[in-house]
Amino acid sequence: MTRTYRLVRHRLAPHRDEGAPPLTHRFRCTALDGDGTKCGAESAAFGNAGDAQPWTFSHLRDHPGHTTFLEVIERPWVPLREERP
Ligand SMILES: [Zn+2]
Repeated sequence: MTRTYRLVRHRLAPHRDEGAPPLTHRFRCTALDGDGTKCGAESAAFGNAGDAQPWTFSHLRDHPGHTTFLEVIERPWVPLREERP
């Protein structure tokens, strides 16, 4: 049995097709708890960062020492096959 393979080039592109997962923003607390472990609490995911930001203030209100956060963005990407010239 003989098999022939052809190299195929791909490039990455944002996945925006219908049915693609949505781009989301959320915030994660990076403050350390008393035992030195990261809190790690996270907001819900939203379609824009502005809607996710209020969670940081409510988390700060409940945990006054937790003053550092990461914005976590999930942006779906897909490999697209490049046509040969
Ligand atoms: Zn926290």
